[in-house]
Amino acid sequence: MNADPNCIFCKIVAGQIPARKAYEDDELLAFHDIHPWAPVHVLVIPKQHIATLAEVGPEHDALLGRMLGLAPRLMKSLGVGNGFRTVINTGPDGGQEVYHLHMHVMGGPRPWSKG
Ligand code: AMP
Ligand code: ZN
Repeated sequence: MNADPNCIFCKIVAGQIPARKAYEDDELLAFHDIHPWAPVHVLVIPKQHIATLAEVGPEHDALLGRMLGLAPRLMKSLGVGNGFRTVINTGPDGGQEVYHLHMHVMGGPRPWSKG
């Protein structure tokens, strides 16, 4: 699978640095954000290294659909029953800090620390 040896999320996929996993299958991994904005704050990533949403093509349509489709099941499994927020920061002006495609999925009772 396509991986970048310098990428922190590829290292999480490879088990080289720890993460609190919430879901895993052949293509996707979800783990809890290390600096949560909300009571439940999970990142959903493809296991393959794709740097940013700006680089995806039609060949990634199914993968992107699976990432989004996972969000409601994940939130349900984590006990979030009153709505959630999904965010993908893309590129410098999008506020992206980690260049491995990821979708933030945030839920739980408000107020939240951010967002
Ligand atoms: P973004 O601005 O969308 O690129 O956000 C990157 C997110 O990754 C931030 O919310 C960070 O708190 C989170 N993050 C960075 N390193 C880790 C890590 N090792 N484990 C879990 N979350 C991380
Ligand atoms: Zn990566």
